[in-house]
Amino acid sequence: MFDWLIVGAGFAGSVLAERIASQRQESVLLIDRRSHVGGNAYDCYDEAGILVHLYGPHIFHTNSAAIAGYLSQFTAWRPYEHRVLARVDGKLLPIPINLDTINRLYELDLTSEELEVFFAARRETVEQITTAEDVVVSTVGRELYEKFFQGYTRKQWGRDPSQLSKSVTARVPTRLNRDDRYFGDKFQNMPAGGYTRMFRRMLDNPRIHIMLQADYRAIRDRIPHRRLIYTGAVDEFFDFRFGPLPYRSLSFQHVTLERERTQPVAVINYPQDEDYTRVTEYKHLTGQVHPCTSLSYEYPSDTGDPYYPVPCPENEALYKRYEMLAAQLRHVWFVGRLATYRYYNMDQVIGQALATFERIQRTVSAGAQA
Ligand code: FAD
Ligand code: UDP
Repeated sequence: MFDWLIVGAGFAGSVLAERIASQRQESVLLIDRRSHVGGNAYDCYDEAGILVHLYGPHIFHTNSAAIAGYLSQFTAWRPYEHRVLARVDGKLLPIPINLDTINRLYELDLTSEELEVFFAARRETVEQITTAEDVVVSTVGRELYEKFFQGYTRKQWGRDPSQLSKSVTARVPTRLNRDDRYFGDKFQNMPAGGYTRMFRRMLDNPRIHIMLQADYRAIRDRIPHRRLIYTGAVDEFFDFRFGPLPYRSLSFQHVTLERERTQPVAVINYPQDEDYTRVTEYKHLTGQVHPCTSLSYEYPSDTGDPYYPVPCPENEALYKRYEMLAAQLRHVWFVGRLATYRYYNMDQVIGQALATFERIQRTVSAGAQA
């Protein structure tokens, strides 16, 4: 009999396994249907010996000293500030859009003050900003929206930005200065030995038992447990009772080239003609020295493992129905990007898991029976 069964060994499940085992001294069985821990943040060495992220680029960034401090127990850090270029009209330009983006795209020599006037002349008045399209056209105008956002978003989500919530494109700021960093957070670092090594240290506790290639449905009746933490897709947990919640998937093409470097920055976005959305060269993220270099091409798709909840009003309404079912269950906690249908970054998932642990501490007395 385990005190806890935790489904999913990504950040949500692993943080909770670590907290419960180390702070409550209770036993945990952590399962995952994949063959490894780490969830979508998993990294590994490819055939050439280059450290790659199997499920696309993961850059750690947060404004929370508490979350950075929590992870620092399990890893040292490598300073890294993420920079991205977008291939637009045959040029490689900084994204988020900044002063250099506009000057190089239109061959201008604007100052920050002049750029403000430039945007003011182009932005559209939107009474109420509700969609991913509204956010961009009301900031930089329609032409830049079409060049940098519309095509990328249609590829990434399989729907037009006008059919997605504003939160999607609000993730990407617009800058009047020359700051070309993708994120503005105070803490931007990569785990020095990689994510998987950090997860292994987090889970290195004799009270944590790990079972891989194990699906919850296959084992749930065979493994006695007192309580359950579930970090998989919430609609699947309830056998799709109200119909499937849309999740967007990706397929990755990983390639290795026999040269030391091939891109000027880690990620190049392709908002125009290509079928893929972005290409990542991993050595920029890891700092690894190697005569070859490995990249991944991301092709969005409706089928495959669920990676992204799709933020729009009808999906949020459907999720609310599942959330109400989830709230009725005793001794079951739903945590993470798939189980709470939130487009969360890693630090937000860690924050949610740590908050869930505090709730568990308040509501579950040690050793109590279900
Ligand atoms: P997951 O990592 O998805 O883990 C859930 C686990 O549950 C999976 O391993 C799955 O196999 C398992 N599971 C599901 N159902 C079952 C079942 N029935 N039985 C057994 N196991 C099951 N965040 C950042 O902060 N920075 C970034 O740069 C960044 N880049 C990203 C790039 C991509 C392409 C993607 C897809 C996400 C990115 N993220 C990034 C977000 C980040 O991946 C997530 O915030 C985080 O990994 C979510 O953790 P999680 O534990 O909620 O879910
Ligand atoms: N986006 C875009 N063009 C870009 C970068 C982002 O249209 O060059 C939009 C797109 O809809 C994307 C969203 O902004 O899905 C959020 O971008 P982010 O880079 O945060 O996506 P993630 O890393 O989560 O895939």
